[in-house]
Amino acid sequence: MLDSDDTPITMPLEQEWTEIRESVAKICEEYPNDYWMKLDAESEYPTAFVNALTEAGFLSSLIPEEYGGTGLPISAAGAILETIHSSGCNAAACHAQMYTMGTLLRHGSEEQKQKYLPGIATGELRMQAFGVTEPTTGSDTTQLKTRADRDGDHYVINGQKVWTSRALQSDLMLLLARTTPADQVKRRSDGLSTFLVDMREAKGNGMEIRKLDAAINHNTTEIFYDNLRIPADSLIGEEGRGFRYILDGMNAERILIAHESLGDAKYFIKRATDYANERVVFGAPIGKNQGIQFPIASSYAEMCAAELMIQKAAAMFDAGRDCGPEANMCKMLAADAAWHAAEGCMQVFGGFAFAREYGIERKWRETRLYQTAPISTNMILAYLGQHVLGMPRSY
Ligand SMILES: Cc1cc2nc3c(=O)[nH]c(=O)nc-3n(C[C@H](O)[C@H](O)[C@H](O)COP(=O)(O)OP(=O)(O)OC[C@H]3O[C@@H](n4cnc5c(N)ncnc54)[C@H](O)[C@@H]3O)c2cc1C
Repeated sequence: MLDSDDTPITMPLEQEWTEIRESVAKICEEYPNDYWMKLDAESEYPTAFVNALTEAGFLSSLIPEEYGGTGLPISAAGAILETIHSSGCNAAACHAQMYTMGTLLRHGSEEQKQKYLPGIATGELRMQAFGVTEPTTGSDTTQLKTRADRDGDHYVINGQKVWTSRALQSDLMLLLARTTPADQVKRRSDGLSTFLVDMREAKGNGMEIRKLDAAINHNTTEIFYDNLRIPADSLIGEEGRGFRYILDGMNAERILIAHESLGDAKYFIKRATDYANERVVFGAPIGKNQGIQFPIASSYAEMCAAELMIQKAAAMFDAGRDCGPEANMCKMLAADAAWHAAEGCMQVFGGFAFAREYGIERKWRETRLYQTAPISTNMILAYLGQHVLGMPRSY
């Protein structure tokens, strides 16, 4: 098939990476709903689950072989995340490593790559934290206020981030901070820089992490930076170009998160269909009623359409093509399909949907996140309206 730059890309019609999907599903069987329910109640990190995936090599799938990973295409990493979600598990504890690593891979120096990537590949180093969002600026990322001021061989960090997930479980973090004041830059996107912060040295030395009490177990935190000194060689790429480096990793992030939503949609549709067939009320399976059957069928159609857009975005990404619109659209369509399937499933299960032991309400809460993070649906629509369709900017 062809698109604007006319280089042919190939999209699979059948499901790919069957062996990977089977192996991941086997690991997931060891972590049933009871495991997640207990962690959810205690807001604990799924260490055993993450270790099992790491040991099997699944979390290093996008790291090139020369740095100790398996160097697979994004569709393989997507198949891993999708299977985790369709099995009723949750990949949020470990997905960030797959895309934050890309920023280091594409823009880091050879020395930085040699120093960190092999450790990330073996699991010896966890790079799960990503510090972008701030409490006062939110989606308006280019206006963020956390500062990184050069002082000899160091940068000194001051400011505050919110929703930095997995900070307490990470050794390394990608941090976006301002190196030139906002009123001194030519373009809004200038003056921000990306740093690879070694959190093992930073925690307690100018970096204070506080757990956030959230509606889902996402191990998320707020972080206060008070004169944190980091070595100048923590800078990734060139000073002032950090926003572009972060944006550059976002297509991968969108495609991978879309796979998670696709997995969620598959989970809800399977659970809803099974229950609709087996639950008998008024002398017949409830699935006989169109009020039960049609929402499931409708979610199935939405899910299949989202899957096609994901496959297109992944194929373009792997071919090195610009896939901003496709990556954003597939994230939005898959998140919507998953949310509609979740709502449908809640209804199909009636009162039992609220019983925690069924796992439905936990997945329903977790699925809702993808309407808001890592990018909200409104911001995707604004991107399509303004950058793809050429309508006026709202910001
Ligand atoms: C559980 C969880 C985990 C997270 N993990 C991380 C993480 O690890 N690292 C990180 O950096 N961030 C993380 N985030 C933050 C997440 O990316 C932000 O919450 C999200 O980008 C939205 O920002 P905000 O919450 O400040 O909303 P705001 O920017 O305040 O927006 C509020 C609402 O207004 C809408 N809105 C704003 N401007 C416009 C506009 N121009 N047009 C239309 N609508 C608009 C938004 O779409 C949104 O619906 C996480 C969030 C959550 C909830």
